[in-house]
Amino acid sequence: MIDDIFCKIINKEVPADIIMETDEWMAFKDIRPQAPVHILIVPKKHIQDISFVKEEDRELIGKLIIAANEVADKLKLDKGFRLILNQGEHGGPLVPHLHVHLLGGKHLGAKIVADTN
Ligand code: 5GP
Repeated sequence: MIDDIFCKIINKEVPADIIMETDEWMAFKDIRPQAPVHILIVPKKHIQDISFVKEEDRELIGKLIIAANEVADKLKLDKGFRLILNQGEHGGPLVPHLHVHLLGGKHLGAKIVADTN
């Protein structure tokens, strides 16, 4: 069994600062924010990562984008925000539960991290 901290947050076994929640997804503050606003938008259905997304998840995945808009509205991110999904060895995800990072609250600078290697 993979240790999935986000399932524990969804099941309210582990506390989190929840911003919004529906039957299908939860949005909560990242514990180590990388920007003034750093929210994680997580489907309640356990999907390990992008490679596990199935055709039947099409609607749910779309709802995560709509959720991002709703969270941004709630947090008054009227100057915009950035969404990130990390995937695989090169993307470097740490938590084995699909999640969208929503970053904002300041000008986020370069759109792609410079590759110095
Ligand atoms: P990843 O690198 O997998 O794309 O991002 C995982 C994110 O989850 C990281 O930004 C990390 O700070 C956040 N995170 C890890 N554990 C916890 C936790 O227990 N609570 C919250 N709120 N965020 C967490």
